[in-house]
Amino acid sequence: MTMKLTRRGFLATSAASATFIALHPYSARAAAGQAHLRIMETTDLHVHLYPYDYYADKPVDTVGLSRAASIIADIRAEATNSMLVDNGDFLQGNPMGDYIAYERGMKDGDMHPVITALNTVGFDAATIGNHEFNYGLDFLTKSTNGAQFPVVLSNIVKKKGASAREDETLYKPYVILDRELTDGAGEKHPIKVGIIGFTPPQVMNWDRKHLEGNVEARDIVETAMAYVPQMKEEGADIIIALSHSGIGSADHTDGMENASVPLAAVDGIDAIMTGHSHLVFPSPAYKDYAAVDAEKGTIHGKPATMGGFWGSHLGVIDLMLERDGNAWRVVTAASEARPIYKRNEDRSITALVEDNAAVIEAVKPEHEATLEYVRRAVGKTSAPLYSYFALVADDPSVQIVSIAQKWYIEQMMKGTAYEGLPILSAAAPFKAGGRGGPEYYTDVPAGDVAIKNVADLYLYPNTVRAVKVTGAQVKDWLERSAGMFNQIVPGSADGLLLNPDFPSYNFDVMDGVTYQIDLSQPSKFGPKGEPLNADANRIVNLAFNGQPVTDDMEFVVATNNYRASGGGSFPGAMGDTIIFEAPDTNRDVIVRYIVEQGTINPSADANWSFAPMNGTSVLFETGPKARDYMADVKGVTIEDAGEGKDGFALFRITL
Ligand code: MN
Ligand code: MG
Repeated sequence: MTMKLTRRGFLATSAASATFIALHPYSARAAAGQAHLRIMETTDLHVHLYPYDYYADKPVDTVGLSRAASIIADIRAEATNSMLVDNGDFLQGNPMGDYIAYERGMKDGDMHPVITALNTVGFDAATIGNHEFNYGLDFLTKSTNGAQFPVVLSNIVKKKGASAREDETLYKPYVILDRELTDGAGEKHPIKVGIIGFTPPQVMNWDRKHLEGNVEARDIVETAMAYVPQMKEEGADIIIALSHSGIGSADHTDGMENASVPLAAVDGIDAIMTGHSHLVFPSPAYKDYAAVDAEKGTIHGKPATMGGFWGSHLGVIDLMLERDGNAWRVVTAASEARPIYKRNEDRSITALVEDNAAVIEAVKPEHEATLEYVRRAVGKTSAPLYSYFALVADDPSVQIVSIAQKWYIEQMMKGTAYEGLPILSAAAPFKAGGRGGPEYYTDVPAGDVAIKNVADLYLYPNTVRAVKVTGAQVKDWLERSAGMFNQIVPGSADGLLLNPDFPSYNFDVMDGVTYQIDLSQPSKFGPKGEPLNADANRIVNLAFNGQPVTDDMEFVVATNNYRASGGGSFPGAMGDTIIFEAPDTNRDVIVRYIVEQGTINPSADANWSFAPMNGTSVLFETGPKARDYMADVKGVTIEDAGEGKDGFALFRITL
């Protein structure tokens, strides 16, 4: 093993890649007529330029092009030949993106801060991710106009022709870049590097309102098969695919979203830069995928990488190229994904690199404007948003999440087979005391709403999902939620209402139906979703539009990726009922909803309540500030019952 490689070079990452290094000391091995080319990738930056979480309004070490740029600088210093590409989803996904789109705007000649930052780092090419379409085509074009590097996209087109080659494209489908390689003997030779870009055709659905009638989509693999031979005809020595598409099935189906595996099989493509899934490749996450070697980092034997998301990693592909007459060909390859931070055993974070000063400096004005933006009102709420009573009554902090999810899924179902089915929305309180303590509640007064308040409403970066379920599954979903409560003996006084082992994030409230919870019944499911009492029925009077919900009714339920894929083991949400996987986070949807509505009305509609139980009372604890809102709560009778434990306040409900 050659130790000439620099400290932060090949030797910097995990044990797995260190083994790799021993096998592939590329630069050192390149002989005369051979050249080592490193291709670096950023992907899914989502406007994360600074190491800053604008929702939480605090610095973080887990994101930022400013950090990834330091790895890029190291690699450029050590590698004889390198190129840098971005794989898309750069314009949208954090408050800086929203600030530019919703507040500052993009006039002709304006620079988008992401483009400023990419220009500062110096990219060779980029492709367009699905999220680039979120703010419309005009915004997109004005943004990419400032790029000092080519932007390529082959499969979203202004007008389809008889075949892909005859399409009138939105961007150049590909470029062939003339570069110079220094070989192992120090001699320079020209090389033509072909770069082609792809994005999921699903954008036509996800951004229908911007795209319908303006652009058309083509299948990723079909488009590659058309253009790659043309790139070869035009003299490309090697071809790099910028695939803003995940690593998924090896079986190609027309219009598939995650097409990087069948794409890698296309003859003529030498390396695949992937993204869209916000994961890391190579990594064990992909060990069971057909045609994928998750350890070596190959797909169909070709080198591939996925550089995480938000600047978390830099994807790196090493190609050993050999002169073949006047052309170059790939003889061996390796790939890795280098992180900007590591998570320690106690889950704390250690930064592995420092900021690149040039990036920090280049977008400082926009960073500061974004800070100002997240701290100031972007909308108004006509009712206070608090979560003090979220576990005992229909609650405004959960209601607003439900309303926004439903609003979004209604748009997404348009033009699909599910249009017209009733849409329900499921949401749970995330900040509801518990181990977080007596201050750990959402509490936004009526009046101004700022972006940083949205983080309070929706703590996790989940993405929206829709599932299709039956009436029977809706009922069992709610039975599962109702495990939140202890069984209460009718006529008893001051029994404890809440089961402390039941996390609040598994207390899904469902909007769009009305129901009551009968606390005299045992829970049908245990705290982990395990069946306990098959015949128990806590959910009573379940109705849709005033009519009883029958077992065979069909509903679409708006929820998040965690729940829909089996998180919490909810009946009807075990991963097999998903009909729509949104590219958008629940948080983004809430921000969009607030910005579009101007004033929101999150008043809870008391669509659920406890079934009456004569002469019965129960106690529960919540934050002491709940006293301010006690009189507000609908559908339940609450009185102050003094102090609870550890700074909590105690309340009594008469059922
Ligand atoms: Mn993305
Ligand atoms: Mg409600």
